Amino acid sequence: MTAMMKAAIFVEPGRIELADKPIPDVGPNDALIRITTTTICGTDVHILKGEYPVAKGLTIGHEPVGVIEKLGSAVQGYTEGQRVIAGAICPNFNSYAAQDGAPSQDGSYLIPMGLCGCHGYKATAGWRFGNLIDGTQAEYVLVPDAQANLAPIPDGLTDEQVLMCPDIMSTGFKGAENANIRIGDTVVVFAQGPIGLCATAGARLLGASTIIGVDGNDHRLGIAKKLGADVTLNFNNCDVVAEIMKLTGGKGADSAIEALGTQGTFESALRVLRPGGTLSSLGVYSSDLTIPLSAFAAGLGDHTIRTALCPGGKERMRRLMNIVAAGRIDLGLMVTHHYKLDNIVEAYELFAHQRDGVLKVAIKP
Ligand SMILES: [Zn+2]
Repeated sequence: MTAMMKAAIFVEPGRIELADKPIPDVGPNDALIRITTTTICGTDVHILKGEYPVAKGLTIGHEPVGVIEKLGSAVQGYTEGQRVIAGAICPNFNSYAAQDGAPSQDGSYLIPMGLCGCHGYKATAGWRFGNLIDGTQAEYVLVPDAQANLAPIPDGLTDEQVLMCPDIMSTGFKGAENANIRIGDTVVVFAQGPIGLCATAGARLLGASTIIGVDGNDHRLGIAKKLGADVTLNFNNCDVVAEIMKLTGGKGADSAIEALGTQGTFESALRVLRPGGTLSSLGVYSSDLTIPLSAFAAGLGDHTIRTALCPGGKERMRRLMNIVAAGRIDLGLMVTHHYKLDNIVEAYELFAHQRDGVLKVAIKP
Protein backbone atom coordinates (compact mmCIF):
# COMPACT_ATOMS: atom_id res chain seq x y z
CA MET A 1 0.00 0.00 0.00
CA THR A 2 1.29 3.47 -0.90
CA ALA A 3 1.94 5.73 2.07
CA MET A 4 -0.14 8.91 1.88
CA MET A 5 0.28 12.49 3.09
CA LYS A 6 -1.81 15.64 3.34
CA ALA A 7 -1.13 18.41 0.83
CA ALA A 8 -2.73 21.75 -0.10
CA ILE A 9 -3.53 21.54 -3.81
CA PHE A 10 -4.77 24.00 -6.43
CA VAL A 11 -8.24 22.81 -7.49
CA GLU A 12 -9.50 25.75 -9.59
CA PRO A 13 -9.41 29.56 -9.35
CA GLY A 14 -10.65 30.50 -5.90
CA ARG A 15 -10.06 27.01 -4.46
CA ILE A 16 -6.99 25.62 -2.75
CA GLU A 17 -7.91 22.58 -0.67
CA LEU A 18 -6.34 19.91 1.49
CA ALA A 19 -6.10 16.51 -0.24
CA ASP A 20 -4.44 13.13 0.25
CA LYS A 21 -1.51 12.42 -2.05
CA PRO A 22 1.09 9.67 -2.17
CA ILE A 23 4.38 10.44 -0.41
CA PRO A 24 6.77 10.82 -3.37
CA ASP A 25 9.46 8.25 -4.27
CA VAL A 26 13.04 9.43 -3.82
CA GLY A 27 15.25 9.41 -6.94
CA PRO A 28 19.07 9.30 -6.74
CA ASN A 29 19.48 13.12 -6.73
CA ASP A 30 16.46 13.94 -4.55
CA ALA A 31 15.85 14.33 -0.85
CA LEU A 32 12.50 13.78 0.87
CA ILE A 33 11.92 16.45 3.51
CA ARG A 34 9.39 16.10 6.29
CA ILE A 35 8.01 19.63 6.54
CA THR A 36 8.02 21.09 10.07
CA THR A 37 7.10 24.67 9.06
CA THR A 38 6.14 26.36 5.81
CA THR A 39 4.25 29.52 4.90
CA ILE A 40 2.02 31.21 2.34
CA CYS A 41 3.51 33.72 -0.11
CA GLY A 42 1.81 36.57 -1.96
CA THR A 43 2.51 34.58 -5.12
CA ASP A 44 0.38 31.72 -3.75
CA VAL A 45 -2.51 34.17 -3.47
CA HIS A 46 -2.05 35.01 -7.18
CA ILE A 47 -2.27 31.25 -7.83
CA LEU A 48 -5.38 30.94 -5.65
CA LYS A 49 -7.09 33.75 -7.57
CA GLY A 50 -6.18 32.17 -10.90
CA GLU A 51 -3.94 35.13 -11.84
CA TYR A 52 -0.86 32.90 -12.08
CA PRO A 53 -1.70 29.59 -13.77
CA VAL A 54 -0.52 26.25 -12.38
CA ALA A 55 -1.66 22.69 -13.09
CA LYS A 56 -4.79 21.45 -11.35
CA GLY A 57 -3.89 19.14 -8.48
CA LEU A 58 -0.44 20.70 -7.97
CA THR A 59 0.68 21.07 -4.34
CA ILE A 60 1.24 24.78 -3.63
CA GLY A 61 3.96 26.45 -1.55
CA HIS A 62 7.68 27.13 -2.00
CA GLU A 63 9.12 27.86 1.45
CA PRO A 64 10.32 24.63 3.12
CA VAL A 65 11.70 24.22 6.64
CA GLY A 66 11.99 20.61 7.77
CA VAL A 67 13.93 17.45 8.50
CA ILE A 68 15.58 15.11 6.00
CA GLU A 69 13.40 11.98 5.93
CA LYS A 70 15.20 10.14 3.13
CA LEU A 71 18.23 10.94 0.98
CA GLY A 72 18.72 9.88 -2.65
CA SER A 73 21.57 7.43 -3.22
CA ALA A 74 23.76 10.07 -4.96
CA VAL A 75 23.32 12.82 -2.36
CA GLN A 76 26.35 13.11 -0.08
CA GLY A 77 27.34 15.15 2.97
CA TYR A 78 23.93 15.19 4.67
CA THR A 79 22.30 12.87 7.19
CA GLU A 80 18.75 11.70 7.56
CA GLY A 81 17.16 13.46 10.53
CA GLN A 82 19.12 16.67 9.88
CA ARG A 83 17.21 20.01 10.00
CA VAL A 84 17.38 21.80 6.67
CA ILE A 85 15.81 24.42 4.48
CA ALA A 86 15.88 24.67 0.69
CA GLY A 87 15.53 27.78 -1.43
CA ALA A 88 12.17 28.53 -3.02
CA ILE A 89 14.13 28.41 -6.25
CA CYS A 90 15.84 25.05 -6.81
CA PRO A 91 18.04 25.25 -9.91
CA ASN A 92 20.10 22.45 -11.35
CA PHE A 93 23.53 24.02 -10.84
CA ASN A 94 25.00 21.87 -13.62
CA SER A 95 22.93 23.73 -16.21
CA TYR A 96 24.15 26.27 -18.76
CA ALA A 97 21.91 28.96 -17.25
CA ALA A 98 23.33 28.36 -13.76
CA GLN A 99 26.92 28.33 -14.99
CA ASP A 100 26.22 31.52 -16.89
CA GLY A 101 25.19 33.28 -13.68
CA ALA A 102 21.40 33.00 -14.07
CA PRO A 103 20.47 29.92 -12.03
CA SER A 104 16.95 31.19 -11.26
CA GLN A 105 16.23 31.09 -15.02
CA ASP A 106 17.18 27.42 -15.36
CA GLY A 107 14.65 25.16 -17.06
CA SER A 108 17.08 22.41 -18.03
CA TYR A 109 15.05 19.78 -16.15
CA LEU A 110 12.14 20.51 -18.53
CA ILE A 111 14.11 19.50 -21.64
CA PRO A 112 13.17 15.78 -21.47
CA MET A 113 9.47 16.75 -21.33
CA GLY A 114 9.86 18.95 -24.42
CA LEU A 115 8.93 22.05 -22.39
CA CYS A 116 12.20 23.90 -22.90
CA GLY A 117 14.71 24.30 -25.75
CA CYS A 118 17.88 22.20 -25.53
CA HIS A 119 19.86 25.19 -24.17
CA GLY A 120 17.84 24.95 -20.94
CA TYR A 121 17.18 28.67 -20.38
CA LYS A 122 13.59 29.40 -19.41
CA ALA A 123 12.54 32.58 -17.61
CA THR A 124 11.51 31.90 -13.98
CA ALA A 125 11.78 28.08 -14.39
CA GLY A 126 14.26 27.78 -11.52
CA TRP A 127 11.15 28.25 -9.40
CA ARG A 128 9.90 24.67 -9.27
CA PHE A 129 8.12 24.14 -5.90
CA GLY A 130 4.42 24.88 -6.19
CA ASN A 131 4.90 26.13 -9.74
CA LEU A 132 6.11 23.25 -11.90
CA ILE A 133 6.53 20.47 -9.30
CA ASP A 134 4.68 19.68 -6.06
CA GLY A 135 5.35 22.27 -3.37
CA THR A 136 5.81 22.61 0.36
CA GLN A 137 2.33 23.10 1.83
CA ALA A 138 2.24 19.40 2.63
CA GLU A 139 3.57 16.89 5.14
CA TYR A 140 6.47 16.02 2.81
CA VAL A 141 8.21 17.62 -0.17
CA LEU A 142 10.70 16.18 -2.62
CA VAL A 143 13.72 18.49 -3.09
CA PRO A 144 15.26 18.07 -6.56
CA ASP A 145 19.03 18.38 -7.10
CA ALA A 146 19.33 18.06 -3.34
CA GLN A 147 23.13 18.18 -3.32
CA ALA A 148 23.01 21.81 -4.47
CA ASN A 149 19.81 22.89 -2.79
CA LEU A 150 19.70 21.51 0.78
CA ALA A 151 21.01 23.91 3.41
CA PRO A 152 21.52 22.72 7.04
CA ILE A 153 20.00 25.00 9.70
CA PRO A 154 22.61 26.33 12.16
CA ASP A 155 22.17 25.04 15.73
CA GLY A 156 20.03 27.21 17.92
CA LEU A 157 17.86 28.76 15.22
CA THR A 158 14.12 28.11 15.35
CA ASP A 159 11.97 27.25 12.33
CA GLU A 160 10.39 30.71 12.54
CA GLN A 161 13.79 32.43 12.46
CA VAL A 162 14.74 30.78 9.16
CA LEU A 163 11.27 30.66 7.57
CA MET A 164 11.92 33.86 5.57
CA CYS A 165 15.23 32.62 4.12
CA PRO A 166 13.92 30.41 1.25
CA ASP A 167 12.04 33.24 -0.47
CA ILE A 168 11.16 36.51 1.27
CA MET A 169 14.59 37.35 2.66
CA SER A 170 16.44 36.07 -0.41
CA THR A 171 14.18 38.06 -2.74
CA GLY A 172 14.12 41.24 -0.64
CA PHE A 173 17.89 41.21 -0.17
CA LYS A 174 18.35 40.63 -3.92
CA GLY A 175 16.31 43.78 -4.47
CA ALA A 176 18.78 45.68 -2.30
CA GLU A 177 21.80 43.99 -3.92
CA ASN A 178 20.49 44.86 -7.40
CA ALA A 179 20.01 48.49 -6.37
CA ASN A 180 23.79 49.20 -6.51
CA ILE A 181 23.69 50.59 -2.97
CA ARG A 182 26.85 52.30 -1.73
CA ILE A 183 27.66 53.51 1.78
CA GLY A 184 25.83 56.77 2.36
CA ASP A 185 23.18 56.31 -0.32
CA THR A 186 19.55 57.38 -0.13
CA VAL A 187 17.26 54.48 -0.99
CA VAL A 188 13.48 54.44 -1.37
CA VAL A 189 11.57 51.17 -0.98
CA PHE A 190 8.09 51.18 -2.50
CA ALA A 191 5.71 48.85 -0.61
CA GLN A 192 6.46 47.42 2.83
CA GLY A 193 4.93 43.98 2.56
CA PRO A 194 7.18 41.09 3.64
CA ILE A 195 9.49 41.42 0.62
CA GLY A 196 9.67 45.22 0.79
CA LEU A 197 10.48 44.97 4.51
CA CYS A 198 13.36 42.62 3.70
CA ALA A 199 14.55 45.01 0.97
CA THR A 200 14.52 47.77 3.60
CA ALA A 201 16.56 45.61 5.97
CA GLY A 202 18.93 44.68 3.14
CA ALA A 203 19.46 48.34 2.19
CA ARG A 204 20.44 49.07 5.79
CA LEU A 205 22.90 46.16 5.87
CA LEU A 206 24.47 47.37 2.61
CA GLY A 207 25.19 50.80 4.06
CA ALA A 208 22.42 53.13 2.89
CA SER A 209 22.28 56.11 5.25
CA THR A 210 18.78 57.32 4.42
CA ILE A 211 16.09 54.72 3.77
CA ILE A 212 12.61 55.89 2.91
CA GLY A 213 9.85 53.28 3.25
CA VAL A 214 6.59 53.84 1.37
CA ASP A 215 3.28 52.05 1.98
CA GLY A 216 -0.38 52.77 2.64
CA ASN A 217 -0.51 50.79 5.88
CA ASP A 218 0.75 52.47 9.07
CA HIS A 219 1.23 49.14 10.85
CA ARG A 220 3.62 47.97 8.13
CA LEU A 221 5.39 51.35 8.13
CA GLY A 222 5.94 50.89 11.88
CA ILE A 223 7.66 47.56 11.23
CA ALA A 224 9.68 49.18 8.41
CA LYS A 225 11.11 51.55 11.02
CA LYS A 226 12.13 48.60 13.21
CA LEU A 227 13.87 46.94 10.26
CA GLY A 228 15.81 49.95 9.02
CA ALA A 229 13.66 52.71 7.51
CA ASP A 230 14.70 56.21 8.63
CA VAL A 231 11.66 57.93 7.15
CA THR A 232 8.27 56.41 6.33
CA LEU A 233 5.69 57.88 3.97
CA ASN A 234 2.03 56.82 3.83
CA PHE A 235 0.85 57.46 0.27
CA ASN A 236 -2.67 58.14 1.59
CA ASN A 237 -1.42 61.20 3.44
CA CYS A 238 1.06 62.80 1.06
CA ASP A 239 2.33 63.15 -2.50
CA VAL A 240 5.12 60.60 -2.20
CA VAL A 241 7.15 61.74 -5.22
CA ALA A 242 7.05 65.41 -4.19
CA GLU A 243 7.93 64.50 -0.60
CA ILE A 244 10.95 62.42 -1.65
CA MET A 245 12.21 65.16 -3.97
CA LYS A 246 11.93 67.57 -1.02
CA LEU A 247 13.75 65.14 1.32
CA THR A 248 16.61 64.79 -1.18
CA GLY A 249 16.93 68.52 -1.86
CA GLY A 250 15.54 68.09 -5.37
CA LYS A 251 18.23 65.60 -6.38
CA GLY A 252 16.26 62.38 -6.17
CA ALA A 253 17.18 59.05 -4.59
CA ASP A 254 20.29 57.09 -5.52
CA SER A 255 18.22 53.91 -5.72
CA ALA A 256 14.56 52.99 -5.72
CA ILE A 257 13.34 49.48 -5.00
CA GLU A 258 9.91 48.45 -6.30
CA ALA A 259 8.37 45.64 -4.23
CA LEU A 260 4.74 45.42 -5.32
CA GLY A 261 4.36 45.02 -9.08
CA THR A 262 2.05 47.81 -10.24
CA GLN A 263 2.32 50.58 -12.83
CA GLY A 264 1.95 53.17 -10.06
CA THR A 265 4.82 51.95 -7.89
CA PHE A 266 7.09 51.29 -10.87
CA GLU A 267 6.44 54.76 -12.23
CA SER A 268 6.93 56.45 -8.86
CA ALA A 269 10.20 54.55 -8.41
CA LEU A 270 11.42 56.00 -11.70
CA ARG A 271 10.16 59.50 -10.90
CA VAL A 272 12.11 59.72 -7.60
CA LEU A 273 15.36 58.44 -9.11
CA ARG A 274 18.28 60.82 -9.61
CA PRO A 275 19.98 60.78 -13.03
CA GLY A 276 22.35 57.81 -13.06
CA GLY A 277 20.38 56.04 -10.34
CA THR A 278 19.18 52.46 -10.20
CA LEU A 279 15.62 51.15 -10.17
CA SER A 280 15.57 47.65 -8.71
CA SER A 281 12.29 45.92 -9.50
CA LEU A 282 11.03 42.95 -7.46
CA GLY A 283 7.28 43.03 -8.09
CA VAL A 284 5.38 40.47 -10.14
CA TYR A 285 3.49 42.50 -12.77
CA SER A 286 0.25 41.36 -14.32
CA SER A 287 -0.04 43.85 -17.20
CA ASP A 288 2.20 45.82 -19.58
CA LEU A 289 4.23 48.64 -18.05
CA THR A 290 4.44 52.16 -19.44
CA ILE A 291 7.64 54.14 -18.92
CA PRO A 292 6.99 57.88 -18.39
CA LEU A 293 9.13 59.80 -20.85
CA SER A 294 10.13 62.72 -18.59
CA ALA A 295 11.17 60.54 -15.66
CA PHE A 296 13.10 58.35 -18.11
CA ALA A 297 14.85 61.50 -19.48
CA ALA A 298 13.81 60.34 -22.94
CA GLY A 299 16.23 57.42 -22.51
CA LEU A 300 19.26 59.65 -21.83
CA GLY A 301 19.31 59.64 -18.00
CA ASP A 302 21.95 56.95 -17.40
CA HIS A 303 19.33 55.05 -15.41
CA THR A 304 19.70 51.37 -14.67
CA ILE A 305 16.58 49.21 -14.39
CA ARG A 306 17.14 45.72 -13.02
CA THR A 307 14.73 42.86 -12.41
CA ALA A 308 15.22 39.71 -10.37
CA LEU A 309 13.80 36.38 -9.34
CA CYS A 310 14.68 35.10 -5.88
CA PRO A 311 18.16 33.48 -5.76
CA GLY A 312 18.27 29.91 -4.45
CA GLY A 313 20.88 27.27 -3.71
CA LYS A 314 22.61 26.10 -0.53
CA GLU A 315 25.31 28.81 -0.50
CA ARG A 316 22.72 31.59 -0.74
CA MET A 317 20.71 29.94 2.05
CA ARG A 318 23.85 29.48 4.20
CA ARG A 319 24.65 33.19 3.93
CA LEU A 320 21.10 34.28 4.78
CA MET A 321 20.90 31.95 7.80
CA ASN A 322 24.30 33.26 8.96
CA ILE A 323 22.91 36.80 8.98
CA VAL A 324 20.08 35.59 11.21
CA ALA A 325 22.45 33.57 13.42
CA ALA A 326 24.72 36.60 13.82
CA GLY A 327 21.78 38.65 15.07
CA ARG A 328 22.04 41.24 12.28
CA ILE A 329 18.33 41.04 11.62
CA ASP A 330 15.32 39.51 13.35
CA LEU A 331 12.70 38.43 10.85
CA GLY A 332 10.94 36.29 13.43
CA LEU A 333 8.81 39.37 14.11
CA MET A 334 7.30 38.99 10.64
CA VAL A 335 5.65 35.69 11.64
CA THR A 336 2.41 37.10 13.01
CA HIS A 337 0.12 34.03 12.89
CA HIS A 338 0.35 30.25 13.32
CA TYR A 339 -1.88 27.61 11.70
CA LYS A 340 -1.99 23.84 11.46
CA LEU A 341 -1.76 22.49 7.90
CA ASP A 342 -5.27 21.11 8.52
CA ASN A 343 -6.53 24.70 8.71
CA ILE A 344 -4.63 26.09 5.74
CA VAL A 345 -7.79 27.19 3.91
CA GLU A 346 -8.50 29.48 6.88
CA ALA A 347 -4.89 30.73 6.76
CA TYR A 348 -5.28 31.60 3.05
CA GLU A 349 -8.47 33.48 3.88
CA LEU A 350 -6.70 35.61 6.50
CA PHE A 351 -3.52 36.14 4.44
CA ALA A 352 -5.25 36.94 1.14
CA HIS A 353 -7.35 39.65 2.81
CA GLN A 354 -4.48 40.94 4.96
CA ARG A 355 -6.67 40.70 8.06
CA ASP A 356 -5.59 41.17 11.66
CA GLY A 357 -2.21 42.80 10.87
CA VAL A 358 -0.94 39.64 9.19
CA LEU A 359 2.53 39.68 7.64
CA LYS A 360 3.46 35.98 7.40
CA VAL A 361 1.73 32.87 8.69
CA ALA A 362 3.65 29.84 9.94
CA ILE A 363 1.96 26.61 8.75
CA LYS A 364 2.80 23.42 10.65
CA PRO A 365 1.73 19.90 9.60
ZN1 LIG B 1 7.15 33.49 -2.83
